[in-house]
Amino acid sequence: MPIYEYSCPDCKLKFELLRPLSQANEAAFCPQCHGKVNRILSSFNCFRAASEDVSTAIGGSSPCSTCSAISCNTCGLG
Ligand SMILES: [Zn+2]
Repeated sequence: MPIYEYSCPDCKLKFELLRPLSQANEAAFCPQCHGKVNRILSSFNCFRAASEDVSTAIGGSSPCSTCSAISCNTCGLG
């Protein structure tokens, strides 16, 4: 379950909530003043998701992660 970060526009409180993806776009409320809060996009989560995409793409497209496609001792090319 991903953690979402929220910021309250009224009392400036920042807090995190653990929510299922299906509730990610539902409204959240401030635990302090009970006003509606805005979700903050976490740069940490974005970075981690991006790096996972890259490693998945590399692993899926090449049988050998060290292969340069010209010469590789591990998979025998060149
Ligand atoms: Zn608040």
